Amino acid sequence: MGEHKLLTEHFGTEGLQTLAVYERVGGYQGLREALSRFTPETLIDEVKASGLRGRGGAGFPTGTKWGFLPKDVFPRYLCCNADESEPGCFKDRALIDENPHQLIEGLLIAAYALQVNTAFIYIRGEYHDQRLLLERCVEEARAAGHIGANVLGSGFSCDVIVHGGAGAYICGEETALIDSLEGYRGQPRLKPPFPALKGLYGKPTVVNNVETLSNLPHIVQRGGAWFKQLGTEKSAGTRLFCCSGHINRPGTYEIAMGTPIRELLEEECGGIWKDRSIKAFQPGGGSMQVLLPEHLDLPLDMDAVAQAGSSLGAGAMVFMDETTCMVNVSMRLVDFYHHESCGKCAPCREGTYFESDLMHRLEAGHLTLEELHTLADICDNMNGKCFCPLGDTATWFVMSAFKAFRDEFEAHCGAGACPVRTASAQLVTA
Ligand code: SF4
Repeated sequence: MGEHKLLTEHFGTEGLQTLAVYERVGGYQGLREALSRFTPETLIDEVKASGLRGRGGAGFPTGTKWGFLPKDVFPRYLCCNADESEPGCFKDRALIDENPHQLIEGLLIAAYALQVNTAFIYIRGEYHDQRLLLERCVEEARAAGHIGANVLGSGFSCDVIVHGGAGAYICGEETALIDSLEGYRGQPRLKPPFPALKGLYGKPTVVNNVETLSNLPHIVQRGGAWFKQLGTEKSAGTRLFCCSGHINRPGTYEIAMGTPIRELLEEECGGIWKDRSIKAFQPGGGSMQVLLPEHLDLPLDMDAVAQAGSSLGAGAMVFMDETTCMVNVSMRLVDFYHHESCGKCAPCREGTYFESDLMHRLEAGHLTLEELHTLADICDNMNGKCFCPLGDTATWFVMSAFKAFRDEFEAHCGAGACPVRTASAQLVTA
């Protein structure tokens, strides 16, 4: 188990961002095979057999998602969600920076399976360089006959459009992404109807993540059964984990699903820095609940982590050492969600404002114990009552940290300063 290179196999190869080098290492063979060996139906079956689950956060089975499209409604659309904005998450950027044609090839394979003639890559506004790179690669692939009319002489036609967002986190939510792509202010839509029935321009639409699509050339070439045996029964394949925080070797690591989290921390990330011990970690990015050192032996398996009360989310592992103030971390994450709330529904728009205000006063040591319970009440009144998942996730970390580190939260009340920072300063000095 441990490190297993599939999507990252050719990372670091000079010129991999060009079509010539990508094809020299076997690129676009998956697309050729998809077009020649599979019908759209058998290709969907192959992806179902692979057990591939979405890598954007929800972990929904990709082949099943594709199967929701109504049979005879055309046109239909495919959108690659490259609006990677989760705090701590940078794996999609690595996949685009290092191997952009792998993503484009995966997108074309999915487009063929879904019989889509126009596919979009929606990329976050801050990924300016990556957008330019993708645009150049799309042009290169178009000139070579991989994109456009009669792809590789197969009779199948598909155009690819790269669309830059304007920097809103909420556009990573699939219906807000569709709104933004249509030229509106990006805000979530009511579901149902789900995008599979009524998405972009009111037509059936599939939205898939960058990493999800990048897996497809490998599944086509090596087979769904081969892919499935790479991970655990319900979490097939490998995953890219962006590791950051208080570790010796931050970075993006591709790991076979099922590997213990401790192995990822100690062998790939080089352990916690400065010979300190671990206090807590977040297994899926800023939205996810905190986990504790006793959870390090959990396997990297979506269901196992869910049972422990958190989620692998978008694959961002943030490790925190013993000097970390959990109130401070909670405050920073709440600030992020307050800033990114789209304002469409009151529980999130107002709730994140009050959450942020209370967290700032708590962190500074000026909150009373009674007001701390008000904070818990506000989170309770947001969780499950917001229009989209952003409002819920704005409460998950702070509530899980409050539960796991209640003494630390209470010690801030009326302290006049952050007690953890004071103690940590003494530890660091010592
Ligand atoms: Fe917008 Fe927040 Fe409501 Fe989602 S939960 S619709 S982000 S205000």
